[in-house]
Amino acid sequence: MSFIDPNPAYRIGHGYDLHRIEPFPPAGQGRPFLLAGVRLEHTAGPVGHSDADALFHAVTDAILGALGEPDIGQLFPDTDPRHEAADSRVFLAEAVRRMDAAGYHVANLDATVILERPKLSPVKAQIRAALARELRIDERFVNVKGKTHEKVDAVGEGRAVEVHVVVLLHRGV
Ligand code: MG
Repeated sequence: MSFIDPNPAYRIGHGYDLHRIEPFPPAGQGRPFLLAGVRLEHTAGPVGHSDADALFHAVTDAILGALGEPDIGQLFPDTDPRHEAADSRVFLAEAVRRMDAAGYHVANLDATVILERPKLSPVKAQIRAALARELRIDERFVNVKGKTHEKVDAVGEGRAVEVHVVVLLHRGV
């Protein structure tokens, strides 16, 4: 008979997100280009029902996935007008609340942002610090990598931003 630990010490989760990037309308009326709440300087930005923060969305889904909870689209449907232009911090905070309730914390997180332009390097340290703050862990346990898509396909043509995240949750303190 196999043994299934009902309360495993570790749980792994994966999160993925993609948002279309469109040029901002004239007169600076576009929403800011946000990754983990950090603003990127660009003439275009991601579009979405919420604030279109693909990194917060992918981290939220990675944590929810590790917990075996419903995903971000189920918890915060984009048909709900309450989530229009929502600060995606709210989504991540709900995932963190569920993680706390289940008795887990983030052991470490590794994120890959695939973005042709603007360059991620000027804000990478800020993004890492922002994620560590939201997850209430030391920056040493958060990693953020930037890649381009080598000018290939929609991401490579600058028409979308793509994010992959893996997270390891550990039970206990
Ligand atoms: Mg999203």
